[in-house]
Amino acid sequence: MFDTLSDRLTSVLQNLRGKGKLSDADIDATAREIRIALLEADVALPVVREFIKQVKERAKGAEVSEALNPAQQVIKIVNEELIAILGGETRRLNLAKNPPSVIMLAGLQGSGKTTLAGKLALWLKKQGHAPLLVACDLQRPNAVTQLQVVGERAGVATFAPEPGNGVGDPVDVARRSIEEARRAQHDVVIVDTAGRLGVDEELMRQAADIRDAVTPDETLFVVDAMIGQDAVTTAEAFRDGVGFSGVVLTKLDGDARGGAALSVRHVTGEPILFASNGEKLDDFDVFHPDRMASRILG
Ligand code: GDP
Repeated sequence: MFDTLSDRLTSVLQNLRGKGKLSDADIDATAREIRIALLEADVALPVVREFIKQVKERAKGAEVSEALNPAQQVIKIVNEELIAILGGETRRLNLAKNPPSVIMLAGLQGSGKTTLAGKLALWLKKQGHAPLLVACDLQRPNAVTQLQVVGERAGVATFAPEPGNGVGDPVDVARRSIEEARRAQHDVVIVDTAGRLGVDEELMRQAADIRDAVTPDETLFVVDAMIGQDAVTTAEAFRDGVGFSGVVLTKLDGDARGGAALSVRHVTGEPILFASNGEKLDDFDVFHPDRMASRILG
């Protein structure tokens, strides 16, 4: 992901090398090229506008530096503005002072929630936590089994409705999982919720009911970076319907244009906490805006 964007930005910035002082016209031309590169990569328009405005203002105001030539200065500004739209500082996961902490996952079906639940559980386990996975996706056939399989692979316990008890009520399962966590001394509860193919009201209501039942310390919106501009509209729908405190980008290993993923932070105002880049439980890491910016700028 981001290969095309990365190539484009690198070549635009390359053109500035060897130039002496940059005129306003040089900066405008460069800004125009960057704008096209971002739009072609699917970065949302309001994000592009803000980005270009900042780059232009700062490049024209040219913080004069002894150490950097004009081209290097523009590259530095572009890098810093990329970091800014990606959220600036790395945001750490919030855990409760009094365990169990509750982390709820929300997002569309297929966004990678169940896989993420396993990844997060393994990551927490490696840090000495004792997580409990909770199966509240009772809509999709096999979702419970899938979570149990992921849990086994991560070596983490799973709490699920007892088989044969009918469909089961996800809100009830969520509530009971907290009691189970206290009983079996799990300090983090990870709640996997149902996702539909599209945003729908029932899904939102169910997720909001689960949220009210377990008052999560973090509600993470899980979004597939491959879905392009829909990532932004889906994020807005979940923000309004359920609310979330952080974002997880999945499938960053894909070859889609990826710009929508770059827009989610700016559009929703919520930080990106983690990034997933593969199907294996280890293909997962804390999201660092500065490292992502460096990756994009090559
Ligand atoms: P859910 O419906 O939101 O629970 O999504 P799943 O966890 O079932 O994931 C849907 C599909 O995406 C599965 O085939 C996963 O193996 C795959 N998947 C999840 N995360 C990633 C990722 O980061 N990269 C890739 N390439 N595939 C992923």
